[in-house]
Amino acid sequence: MNDKVHSAEASRDIQAMLETLRTVFGFRSFRPNQEGIIKGIMSGRDVFAVMPTGGGKSLCYQLPAKIMGGTAVVISPLISLMKDQVDAALENGIPAAFMNSSMTAQEISGVYRTLKQKTIKLLYIAPERFAMPHFIETLKTFTISLFAIDEAHCISEWGHDFRPDYLSLSLIPKVFPDVPVAAFTATATHKVQEDIIKKIGLRDPYIVRASFNRENLFYQVKQKSKVESQILEFLHEHQGESGIIYRTTRDSVTETAAFLVSKGVKALPYHAGLSSGERNRNQEAFNRDESPIIVATIAFGLGIDKSNVRFVVHADLPKNIESYYQETGRAGRDGEPAYCLLFFSRGDIPKIRYFIDQLTDEGERFIASEKLNQVVEYASHNVCRRRRLLEFFGEDYTLENCSACDICTGSIERIDITIDAQIIMSAISRTQQRFGIGHINDIVTGADTKRVRELKHNEIKTYGAGKHKDKRHWRFLINELLAQDMLRQEGDPYPVLKITPKGFNVLYGKEDAKALKRGEPATKTKLETGYGSGQYDEALFERLRSLRKKIAEEHQVPPYVIFSDRTLHEMCRHFPTTLPDMRRISGVGDAKLERYGEDFVGEIKKYLCENPGISVPESRPYDFDPVDRPKTKKKGETVEETYELFKLGLSLEDIAKQRNLATSTIAAHLERLIREGRDVDIDRFITPEKRKEIEDVFLSLGQWNLSPIVEHFNGAVSYEEARLTRAWLLRKTSG
Ligand code: ADP
Ligand code: MG
Ligand code: ZN
Repeated sequence: MNDKVHSAEASRDIQAMLETLRTVFGFRSFRPNQEGIIKGIMSGRDVFAVMPTGGGKSLCYQLPAKIMGGTAVVISPLISLMKDQVDAALENGIPAAFMNSSMTAQEISGVYRTLKQKTIKLLYIAPERFAMPHFIETLKTFTISLFAIDEAHCISEWGHDFRPDYLSLSLIPKVFPDVPVAAFTATATHKVQEDIIKKIGLRDPYIVRASFNRENLFYQVKQKSKVESQILEFLHEHQGESGIIYRTTRDSVTETAAFLVSKGVKALPYHAGLSSGERNRNQEAFNRDESPIIVATIAFGLGIDKSNVRFVVHADLPKNIESYYQETGRAGRDGEPAYCLLFFSRGDIPKIRYFIDQLTDEGERFIASEKLNQVVEYASHNVCRRRRLLEFFGEDYTLENCSACDICTGSIERIDITIDAQIIMSAISRTQQRFGIGHINDIVTGADTKRVRELKHNEIKTYGAGKHKDKRHWRFLINELLAQDMLRQEGDPYPVLKITPKGFNVLYGKEDAKALKRGEPATKTKLETGYGSGQYDEALFERLRSLRKKIAEEHQVPPYVIFSDRTLHEMCRHFPTTLPDMRRISGVGDAKLERYGEDFVGEIKKYLCENPGISVPESRPYDFDPVDRPKTKKKGETVEETYELFKLGLSLEDIAKQRNLATSTIAAHLERLIREGRDVDIDRFITPEKRKEIEDVFLSLGQWNLSPIVEHFNGAVSYEEARLTRAWLLRKTSG
């Protein structure tokens, strides 16, 4: 009986959740993990969630805040962000307010007054307010629905952004024992996770660790030569788009910004050397699309929630992969395709090494140096960029080809490099493996340097053996041999090249050496690639974007708060000319439909009138999601297609047949869906009893590879069964 009541309540909650998602936010479906988190909060449970930037963390607390009685208190560290988030909530018709130190006493008491009237659903505050005893006392007099702690890693000294103010948040569970507390962050190692949970005092939280894969980001590394002209060339291909260009030093920021301006590009600088007034002005201009491009040091980015950043360019080598990932993460929050381009030159390495050498602590120096090696490997190896990044964060990436990085989309050719490899290794061996890359390259190409003459290296047999090819070629080859573990670098700070046993096999002719030579990525522009969610009418997009900007200026909010790029793109695919059609566009909720529907419908009608040649697709049923079914498929979408067939009840084999894919690929898709927290009922493929048996073997063997499991069962368990069981087990054990 009780159970029935509960399940009736639960299904009412789910109805309310979906209803709110559609009417308030205008979205059709939840992003991965959102549903679970929201259910957790609404059932009164604490939550801890690590989700990547752009994963949709705000909705996880804004949605329950809208449904639940009382006010949700959101703790957010950045004053600049607070205002934008409140504006975004207000635009969706959710009553919201913020309180921070930038406000006058009068303004603050104004907020208290509205709180008393019980209309505010979301209250954003800065953490230091919690240290004020008065504040907690006052808060106790209101009905609080939930606490959401954004950027929760700031509470941990182990994290990279510790803020002592956050420590006072541990008061929350003590003073409000019955109110759920949800903590969110985009970066937390397991150690930081434990620390956050302990410091806040979360009570048996529902834990989510989402995948770090950002499917809509395209990763590319280019050889850096004249970087400013290279940037200019890139900007020509991305005209009108908004993006960030990162440089290491203040001087280079100033120079590059000035260079771009001299070429007629609207760009502003941002670095710690500018006055805070100028910094804020430039950041605001970027945020509001008044200056589409910002050239910045890594000081820039934390206070930015702008969803339509279409590219992030690194003009210099980043210090480590964590920062690279975090900086690129600022691109494409809206889920639309975005570019991450790194210009890589080995010439940048000594500059970073110089800074590392200044570190006084030997341990720190060692770690920094290791981290530098990792970015260099990322940039120089011919391995899927996405796989590399995800592996770095401890995630194994199961797909062969990510279809959204330069490696996976480049035309790859397998070439024999045995003879060239032998030339290099012979030069290394004849000089007793005591020299670094530059000198070996000099020997092979027959360079007439002072050092070569002094060491009499112009007398060895290999001297000049490779002069028919240029230095770049040999550089590429040495990298390749390093990547394939035929050579190794030893010694710091002046590493020398050593030949590994595998390398000697090639040198002595026992084995051949092969390399993958890649051409330019086949994908130059977003429309050619089709890696995004499909084409849209670009001329209309320009017009809708101007309209958005005009409205945003009138309302004093950033344009992306009115509608995201993604929402505009969808309008430019479906050309909604009536309000009900407009309502079907993702991101158009009731409040925005009422406020802006007419304006945008009007502009689209006008455009269609002026361009009678455009054929408008027929109107679609509400649930049709064009984003899920583009003509050209990318990886994420092919997984979705498997999911659709799975939901129809097809067997693994039938899905494979229908999709013309291997059964193992389908199993890998399902594995991903399971790990993402989606609803996948695998009892259909494997009985709970059998699953339990397999789980036990996984646990007793203490490893996650599939073949030992299949072997253990002597063929009675298939790879697919082992894979699906593993996925469930990992999902269970990771919370
Ligand atoms: P985070 O805080 O995790 O970096 P945000 O909360 O800023 O991410 O969300 C990023 C973008 O994704 C926003 O533009 C938001 O409107 C959008 N978004 C969130 N949830 C959904 C959803 N279920 N469907 C479509 N878009 C969503
Ligand atoms: Mg956020
Ligand atoms: Zn790839």
